[in-house]
This record gives sequence, structure tokens and C-alpha cells, in this order.
Amino acid sequence: MEVKRKDIRSVRHCDCTGCSACMNICCRDAIIMKQDAEGFIYPWIDREKCIHCGLCEKNCPVLHPFGKRENYTPQVWAGWSKDVDTRYKSTSGGIFSELARLFLKTADGAVCGARYNNNHMVVHCLIDREEDIPLLRQSKYIQSDINYIYREIKAKLDLGKRVLFCGCPCQVVALRTYLGRPHDNLFLLDFICRGSNSPKALAAFLVMLETKYSSPTNRIWFKNKTSGWNLFSTRIEFENGDIYLKNRYEDPFIQGYIRYNLYMRPSCYRCKFKERNSIAADITLGDFWGIGQRDPALDNDMGTSMMIVNTSKGEALLEAVRPNIMCRKIDMETAIGGNPCLKKSPWKNPRRHRFLSHLDRWGYERCYRHYTRPTLKERLKNAYYTTGHIVKYMALRILSLLGRKINQSTTK
Ligand SMILES: Cc1cc2nc3c(=O)[nH]c(=O)nc-3n(C[C@H](O)[C@H](O)[C@H](O)COP(=O)(O)OP(=O)(O)OC[C@H]3O[C@@H](n4cnc5c(N)ncnc54)[C@H](O)[C@@H]3O)c2cc1C
Repeated sequence: MEVKRKDIRSVRHCDCTGCSACMNICCRDAIIMKQDAEGFIYPWIDREKCIHCGLCEKNCPVLHPFGKRENYTPQVWAGWSKDVDTRYKSTSGGIFSELARLFLKTADGAVCGARYNNNHMVVHCLIDREEDIPLLRQSKYIQSDINYIYREIKAKLDLGKRVLFCGCPCQVVALRTYLGRPHDNLFLLDFICRGSNSPKALAAFLVMLETKYSSPTNRIWFKNKTSGWNLFSTRIEFENGDIYLKNRYEDPFIQGYIRYNLYMRPSCYRCKFKERNSIAADITLGDFWGIGQRDPALDNDMGTSMMIVNTSKGEALLEAVRPNIMCRKIDMETAIGGNPCLKKSPWKNPRRHRFLSHLDRWGYERCYRHYTRPTLKERLKNAYYTTGHIVKYMALRILSLLGRKINQSTTK
């Protein structure tokens, strides 16, 4: 079988989101997704199977951004699940779990979301039992593998089942593009997305911890609330019973993600799915950062979700789940103020590529130490500003002492 890197000339490597729409739509199964050296999946094409029908290009959400949007003014809500356990175990306020429950209560419902597989990699899967909601619950900060899930969703929709899909904004647009037409029985959730990290970076981080704790990983729990929602922690449980627990400022994996932007997918640094008119989901979920400053009653450090209702279908969904959640309407300015990722992609660390290419040889710890150390230029800049501050402070002290002396001598 001759497999070549897929050559969609108009999609640049740095723009491909790995959404897998092309692989799902290919009627010849000529496309597979393969990991590159950085650990991200990209489409590859089997030249012998390809009949050059062009379906993959026509269904690429990067080439053909989501166009038709309902004429609806988005509404922003802050809220959380009334079930304390669900809220504690969820990333934000547990709204996803409450919505999922709504679908799985009846026999004709199914929910699709991301879960960890046995190798601690993330894959999308479909569930149809309420007991399986914990598998999908919680944010997994690496890119999920969609595999052939769009095809499975289409099969369910064709059978008349009601499906709730939750994924990154690019995956939601990809599913809509793949389906080609709106389905009344499909409900779409996305989330405010900072970006997806390389599965290779998480694997290297786990290897580092497994060596330190001398045990394989049992469970990963990002944004654990032991130290509160605002100070969210990373909790890794090991098979020998040991637990790694570090808050957002102490955990190198989270610092590498949110402070140094070291290992996100290239397309996430220039995300095309942040503009309001490119949003395809019925409801966008997120953390309502900063809500406590506007209304302290809405932040008791247990997790507050942001819900942006984008369509009338989303409004109906929120109405249906309302008996199980607490929610209050908020203005869009407050939402954007606390969550810049709603509008802006994160900056790209110039050392990102070197970090990922040295990961295999050096391991996570050495790479992290090396590539988060300030450069000579940064150190000189810091020294310049620090010296400037010291000089300014001393000059002010000398001037005030001189002033006092002159005052004393004139009063004498
Ligand atoms: C990679 C990533 C980046 C995010 N960045 C931000 C941000 O910058 N600002 C912000 O406010 N919120 C962000 N979120 C969203 C936030 O962390 C919560 O997921 C969201 O608020 C929903 O919380 P919840 O308590 O309702 O549900 P949760 O129980 O947290 O439900 C999570 C849902 O997200 C899906 N999911 C989890 N991981 C992935 C993944 N890797 N790929 C696709 N789907 C996934 C699950 O299937 C589930 O459906 C991000 C989430 C992820 C996964």
C-alpha cells in the first residue's frame, strides 16, 4: 500500500486541525490519520485507493468555513449543576453532565464526547447509558482522536436517535460539514478552547512522574478542585496508590500549557473558529473566570460554568435542563473580560518546536527546565528594569533625605 502525506494543496500544515472530516467522508477509505513527529494527527492518503473525487477538500472546514448561521442574538448565562457531586467532579459547573443526563434518560438518546483510552490518550466515543457519563466528564487537555465517530453519529441520526455531541469548536464545525445538512435530532456543544496539546507531551510528562513514583498511571484528573476551582490542580493517581497533586502554579504540565504555550497544535495558535459567525454549536460551555468580581454570590470556588446560547435549539436545551441547574443571565462584556480565549488565540512560544523535537531524547523534565529558562535577552531586560527601579527608588530616598535636612537647617 502506498501511503503518502495527504496533499490538499490549499490547506497548510499549520492550519490543519486534525478534525478527521476528510477521513470520515472518504467513500474509498483512502485516508488515514497518522501522528507526526510532534504527536499530532494529520491526514495521509493511499494513492492506490484515491479516485480524486475531491470530497475531502469539499468537506474540509478550514477550506470551507461554517457559513450559515441562524439570526439569533447569543445569550450568556452563569450557572452550575445543583448536584454537588457532579459539580465537584466536573471541570467547571457540571453543565455538560446535566445535559448528557437529559439525553440518556430516554432510550432513544446518545451522547458523544472525549474519554481516555487504556494508554491515557484521548478518543471520542458514543455512550448510551447514564452510568457512563463519568467517562466523558472533565477536560482532557490533549487533542482527542475522532476516528470514525462522525460516521457512527450519522448512523444513529438516520435511525432517528437523538444525539448530543461535545467537542472542540473545530470538531463541531467538522461534524456539521460532514453531515452536510442540519438534523433536528442532533444537538451540538462546544467549549471556549485555549487549544489542544500534543499527546506526546502528556505521554512524556507521565513517563517522568511514573519514574518518580515507580508506578504506572491509573487516573488523570485535570482541574481537580481539592485546592478550589480558581487554583485548579492536576491530580494523577498511580497504581501503587500514590497521588501527585499540584495546583496550577506548581504543576509544570499546566504551566507549560497556559503560561509558556509550549505544546499546542500549530493550528491552535491561529484558530479560525473563534469568530462568533464561525460558531456552529447550539451552546458554548466554559469556565466563568472573573464572575466573582462581578457578583461574589456566583463564585464559591466550587466551579461556575459559562453557557453561551447560540441558537434557539440551544435555548430549548437550556430550558429543558433548568430544573437541575442554577443559572443567571449575564452580559457578554463580563464573559469576554474574564476569558480572553473566547476571542483570541494564545501566542506561539518561539521555543515550542525545539521543545517538542527534544522531548524524545531529553524527556519532559529536562526539556521543561531548559525551554522555560529565561533567555539572555530576557534576563538582560529583567536586569535593566530591576536596576532602573532600584536607581529610581534610591534617588527618591536621597531627595527626600536632602529635603528633610534642608527643612531642618532652615527651621534652626
Ligand atoms: C482542550 C480544552 C481547552 C479548554 N480551554 C478553555 C478556556 O480557555 N477557557 C474556558 O473557559 N474553558 C476552556 N475549556 C472548557 C472547560 O474546561 C470545560 O470543559 C467546560 O467549561 C465544560 O465544563 P463542564 O463542567 O460543564 O463539563 P465537563 O465535565 O468538564 O465536560 C467536558 C466535556 O468536554 C469534552 N472534552 C473534554 N476533553 C476534550 C478534548 N480534549 N477534546 C474534545 N472534547 C473534550 C468531554 O467529552 C465533555 O463532553 C477547555 C476545554 C478543553 C478540553
